[in-house]
Amino acid sequence: MIIGLAGNPNSGKTTLFNDLTGSSQYTGNWPGVTVEKKDGKLKGHPDVTIQDLPGIYSLSPYTLEEVVSRQYLVHEQPDAIINIVDGTNIERNLYLTTQLLELGLPTLIAINMVDVLEKTGVTIDTKKLEKELGCKVMTISALKGKGTKEAAKEAIRLAKAHEVGKRPEIFSGDLLKAIQEIEGKLDGDMKRWFAIKLFERDNKIIQDNNLNPDLKTVVEPIINKIEDEEDDDAESIITSARYEYITNLTRQCVVASKKQTKSLSDKIDSIVTNRYLALPIFAIIIFIMYYISVTTVGTWMTDWTNDVLFGEIVPNALTALCSTLGVADWMQHLLIDGVVGGVGTVLGFVPQILLIFVFLSILEDTGYMARIAFIMDRLFRKFGLSGKSFIPILIGSGCGVPGIMAARTIEDEADRRMTIMLCTFIPCAAKTEIIAMISSVFFHGSAWIATSMYFLSLAVIVLSGIALKKTRFFAGESAPFVMELPAYHLPQAKTVLMRVLERGKHFIVKAGTIIFAVSVITWFLMSYTPTLQYIDPESAAVSKSILRYIGEFIAPIFAPLGFGNWEGGVSVLIALSAKELAASTVVVLAGKAGVATLFTTMGAFSYMILNLFNPPCIAAMGTIWREMGSRFWAIFAISYQLVLGYVLSFITYQLGSFLFYGASLGIGQIVAIGLVLGIIYMVVRPGYREPVGELVNA
Ligand code: GDP
Ligand code: MG
Repeated sequence: MIIGLAGNPNSGKTTLFNDLTGSSQYTGNWPGVTVEKKDGKLKGHPDVTIQDLPGIYSLSPYTLEEVVSRQYLVHEQPDAIINIVDGTNIERNLYLTTQLLELGLPTLIAINMVDVLEKTGVTIDTKKLEKELGCKVMTISALKGKGTKEAAKEAIRLAKAHEVGKRPEIFSGDLLKAIQEIEGKLDGDMKRWFAIKLFERDNKIIQDNNLNPDLKTVVEPIINKIEDEEDDDAESIITSARYEYITNLTRQCVVASKKQTKSLSDKIDSIVTNRYLALPIFAIIIFIMYYISVTTVGTWMTDWTNDVLFGEIVPNALTALCSTLGVADWMQHLLIDGVVGGVGTVLGFVPQILLIFVFLSILEDTGYMARIAFIMDRLFRKFGLSGKSFIPILIGSGCGVPGIMAARTIEDEADRRMTIMLCTFIPCAAKTEIIAMISSVFFHGSAWIATSMYFLSLAVIVLSGIALKKTRFFAGESAPFVMELPAYHLPQAKTVLMRVLERGKHFIVKAGTIIFAVSVITWFLMSYTPTLQYIDPESAAVSKSILRYIGEFIAPIFAPLGFGNWEGGVSVLIALSAKELAASTVVVLAGKAGVATLFTTMGAFSYMILNLFNPPCIAAMGTIWREMGSRFWAIFAISYQLVLGYVLSFITYQLGSFLFYGASLGIGQIVAIGLVLGIIYMVVRPGYREPVGELVNA
């Protein structure tokens, strides 16, 4: 038996899904987290499958989520639907409900978030709702697990009995007559729903359901008549009728207590989303996050894992083990210098990374990140960018791969491509390692470095977006972004832990696979000469390794960026496989002399900028390739990142060494100034306008 969970974005479907199935799907409090349906077995009922559907506002096929959910509900037909309604936003949520009820499937309405309703003193007359909507209505709190089992039980009962309630009559007068007339030309359980869709001229319905194509011409005069009467288009007529019905219904069934004051959430929001305070507050929160996870607590932990655990304990134990077993010398070097040196250094950063994940998860779970999306939407729209693009960026602060995938929810193809191109600029956990290393070695571990890199990348994203939108490839209006702000709630230890583990897992898996492989290859290239003579680490200065030949060959490329040594160049190259390796390779190559001997302060800063804006890593590039679905756009995106990374790093180094380190004004500085002017021009020039009226010729 299959029970589908349908509801608006953010109504708590995934929370209910996790509660019912005991699984740990990602609950994001922003729309679009679930684009694909997910299924799981109901706890204690192996024969009952629960389906978590993408959140939708209606059953029109406009967004990807709507297409997926509608396809599923209409074609695969679950045995019952639990329609989750956000009780704090009942009026908007019931809009979908009115459509779901037309599908003629056994439906249970679960009004969620009763915990919030109780606090704000709102009561919902479920008996009355039941009577009006003609189906079972229950209240639950998915988060607190209240009433959820009962709801599942009731849904099973409805499914078994195939109990389809009495459909409420939403339409009246001539409109109702028109719909009934169309309905008369159809048959089957879903004929009411098809009739309304035909009335809305949703012609996809004809193709998708093998209806007779002639229907279109048959119903046209019926639609026209009503349109003339109401002086409005068919779709709007239906929408208004639904809203009118819902407004009436909620007036009768939802009672707000008289003493209802501004809720705590609203009070917090009036400060946190305040026009002037929002961004400074966001900056302070990011600063605190980095201060704790990168500069203080995180560093103490990382220093221990790096210097003690992977610096002494593990290598000493391995050495002892190797000599007892009589392992060959080269193998011992591979294990200790290659594997522990490479993978160990990366794992050394795990405490820092986990702390960042804890912070991000808390910010998400409380509902703060949803506010950030809201604030950023306001800002993005000012620049003609889609606010929806900000969600992938927020997700990308953990790891770029899910960030890129989150761009799937952006309907507009140009906006989606642009978001994929830009969202990995936000420092992900791996890039944060580079920032952590550079700021601890060169900038007294100041948390301002990480904070300013975070906001610099936001600025680069916005400016890139503005510049790209002005080209003909990306021009066009951005779709508005609607989202409900969920009420704040205290972070739930279980949810936070689940997310940290999930994110941490990817990180560890990466360390065990790609980072392991690249570390071994790097060790080989570093330990052997081109004629395959092993280089004893003690005499490394004399003989040249393969890696060093490669490094010296490419070093001139990086000289204008302030680090023309072979170690810097090689590590940039290696870091293209995984950004964690930028920090660890530098540490390994610097050896006992220390990272501080490899770079000047300005060179180190520029090295960091290059790695931040360069293409992210193999995994993310693969994802870009897949998600773009076009070789041209994938290459375009990656080239853009390569060029931008280089240009920004060049400008930083050239102008930085002139302004702060007394370098004289030379050709490099002049080129850098030219590039800055070029960028300014790209951002402020008038945008590309779609030529009007030429389409006919095309
Ligand atoms: P979905 O988009 O419908 O899958 O919604 P989610 O399950 O991701 O939930 C959205 C947000 O609402 C999350 O922050 C949840 O923690 C929160 N939420 C879900 N159910 C409840 C509830 O019963 N009470 C409260 N206070 N919050 C809830
Ligand atoms: Mg969800």
